Amino acid sequence: MIQLKWPILGVIIPSIIIAVLGYGSHYFVLQHHLSFREQMWFEFYVTMVWISYLLAIITSPGTPPSNYKPPKGEWKRYCKKCNNFKPPRTHHCKVCNACVLQMDHHCPWTYNCVGYGNLPHFLRFLGWTFWTTSYLFVLLCQRIYSYYEQADLPIYLISKTEMAAVIFLTPIDFFICFSQLVLLIRVFGHIFKGMTQIETWEWERIDSQFYSEHLWETIRSNYSQLHGKEMPKLVSWSGSSATIARQLAEQEIEANEEQEQEFEIISKEPSDESLIPKEFTMDDMVFPYDLGFFKNLTNALGYPWMWLLPFAGPNSDGVVPEKSEEYQEEDQLNLPWPPDGGSREHVVKNTQYDYDKLKQIRNYQELRKRLDPRLNMQRNEWMDHAGSTLDDFGVDIEVEQEESLEK
Ligand SMILES: [Zn+2]
Ligand SMILES: [Zn+2]
Repeated sequence: MIQLKWPILGVIIPSIIIAVLGYGSHYFVLQHHLSFREQMWFEFYVTMVWISYLLAIITSPGTPPSNYKPPKGEWKRYCKKCNNFKPPRTHHCKVCNACVLQMDHHCPWTYNCVGYGNLPHFLRFLGWTFWTTSYLFVLLCQRIYSYYEQADLPIYLISKTEMAAVIFLTPIDFFICFSQLVLLIRVFGHIFKGMTQIETWEWERIDSQFYSEHLWETIRSNYSQLHGKEMPKLVSWSGSSATIARQLAEQEIEANEEQEQEFEIISKEPSDESLIPKEFTMDDMVFPYDLGFFKNLTNALGYPWMWLLPFAGPNSDGVVPEKSEEYQEEDQLNLPWPPDGGSREHVVKNTQYDYDKLKQIRNYQELRKRLDPRLNMQRNEWMDHAGSTLDDFGVDIEVEQEESLEK
């Protein structure tokens, strides 16, 4: 996460950029080339950027109600800093010093957390900024092209102030436009899956640690503490009567990965691992809050006809998030999410590679995961493919680590 020496700069810098691009380009360039109507439209876009930015800054992402009690079947996660229980998907932000519902990340550029309550504002801000800077980029490129076309004209016929403005503004505009596009793709990528950025990180962690004995030790001990019995044998979809449609869809994908599949069959040989399930794979893990593409979108952002309205909010319950039918039918772990949550005092011992065992693994994915240096890392140290730790999203790790598992 970007740490600014003076947090207020996080708001001042974007404000200066919006003003320079929105009004500088208008004054020095656009007013000489656009019709009055086009100029009004451009200023309307700039105003929408300001409004959505302001709303992303001042709107609360949502905090848990003070009388919140976790229902049966959820982790009892107590925040000692807020003196309150945390609903599922909630994290304590170290910058805001508050628990944030469906925390996505702490954004230094809005000096606020992005979460349940203000994600629509944040996305509208990204969206309007992308739209406005793209439009401006096209207009600036048209100016650059016209200079090229008028190369024969005497220099005194071309406004030097305008030319300087175009040279100054174009790279800034392109940079902002491009970065907003990257961010938009990333945030929408999470929303489509029904995940927050932190949950995407968590999913990737479980995936990368799937062959860690420590992970399964925690999951199994959570299960026996919650249910008072040993975890039953986990099976793979292919082994259960689950869904034929799913298998058909998978076959299509697997047709392209024939080579890999061949390896997979060999690796299905029983190993002598005691804690790691033999058949169950990461594909059999179900994320509870993925309600399908369209519902994920409308839950996070409201109905499509409201997306552009400046004040429209989410269309879901931030405190009691809805779980998917698929999860209720097909989840085999029977634990709240994440399955290794709850007891975090778990000490990870140094593990050594068992090379004889590794040599027998024919599944490339599995081998790669088993050799991953992050296999046995603790949750507070683990980093995703981009090198981000939980701390980088603003999560107060100290608070998270002291959460205890209670029935
Ligand atoms: Zn808290
Ligand atoms: Zn925050």
